[in-house]
Amino acid sequence: MTHAHDLSAAGFETLAIRAGQDPDPTTGAVIPPVHLSSTFVQDGIGGLRGGYEYGRAGNPTRTALETQLATLEGGAHGLSFASGLAAEDALLRAVLKPGDELLIGDDAYGGTYRLVSRVLGAWGVRHRVVDLTNLDAVRAALQESRPRLVWAETPSNPFLRVTDIAALAELVHAHDALLVVDNTFATPALQRPLLLGADVVVHSTTKYLGGHSDVVGGAVVLRDDTFAEQVRFVQFAAGAVSGPLDAWLTTRGIKTLAVRMQRHGENALAVAQRLVGHAAVTRVHYPGLPEHPGHAIAARQSSGFGGIVTVELADGGAARRFAEATRLFTLAESLGGVESLVNHPASMTHASVRGTPLEVTESIVRLSVGLESVGDLVADLEQALAAV
Ligand SMILES: *Cc1c(COP(=O)(O)O)cnc(C)c1O
Repeated sequence: MTHAHDLSAAGFETLAIRAGQDPDPTTGAVIPPVHLSSTFVQDGIGGLRGGYEYGRAGNPTRTALETQLATLEGGAHGLSFASGLAAEDALLRAVLKPGDELLIGDDAYGGTYRLVSRVLGAWGVRHRVVDLTNLDAVRAALQESRPRLVWAETPSNPFLRVTDIAALAELVHAHDALLVVDNTFATPALQRPLLLGADVVVHSTTKYLGGHSDVVGGAVVLRDDTFAEQVRFVQFAAGAVSGPLDAWLTTRGIKTLAVRMQRHGENALAVAQRLVGHAAVTRVHYPGLPEHPGHAIAARQSSGFGGIVTVELADGGAARRFAEATRLFTLAESLGGVESLVNHPASMTHASVRGTPLEVTESIVRLSVGLESVGDLVADLEQALAAV
């Protein structure tokens, strides 16, 4: 007979592997199984055996993931969804009602801005775009429009701008608003916004948490019980839950998150350092470079700088030629997998924000630096830049 290890003082890597992952009590399976059943037997009406009744309301495989997510972010409640945007939608609909306003950073993920401006906007939710790295601008916007909620993404997509989470949280709370941080780029392995004062963390688990580009998912993590109940109600009532196989794959990916993020950061730094000063490169955005404007804040609030590097070239033509000339870096949307990807944001991931305040210049290329041999990655970028 083995006993469950006490995790109350465990380190991050231990939690990533053990939280929510107790062996199956009926079979002894070390890895908790994938529970595909959509429904659960009742011993008499309402007599539930493990609290489960119907798959939309809850599923043991999803619970295992939700426990893992809450634990790693330092939250009390984790909620898993069918995609990052489904998670964001449930959160926003739990908090906002028609007439409410939210503040969003000017460098947010394009899909988030599309959700806010075109889906929620049609239901009377208003938004204002602000540079969240400029706290004076944030203060002015908070005073003027009294938003319910501020939406921050740090490091941001695609420019890797860094927002001071603790300072922003203090400012936002002084104006009776909630701070949401999209922690997709940093992940809890590097940065835990709830411990820095944020009220809610959201994730596209499609990216680093899943980590293998084989599952789409999203998450909301928070501490407050009442607030969590409100989001859980929308999760249940609107139904954009993650399926059992998706939840299981995400859980498996998360177990190696810490070691992956460490190597992503090492490889990204090597790539960034090689690109700085290259004749074909105008500018390199990577928070791990000392000259990056957010470097000092990132070094203070996170334990690493992540795996995304954004490169500026002479113009849109050069950026497109570069993105199309890599061989090992695969031209594809998304990020955060073990394989390196290259993306032209203006025409791919951020095409939906063309003509909005979040429009992205044509001259940048975003690299998701993977876990291949770093020499191979650098050599590939060098040959692609030679073709520009
Ligand atoms: C991809 C992404 C999202 C959206 O998540 P999906 O899983 O694609 O719905 C949200 N925020 C950030 C920062 C992302 O990179």
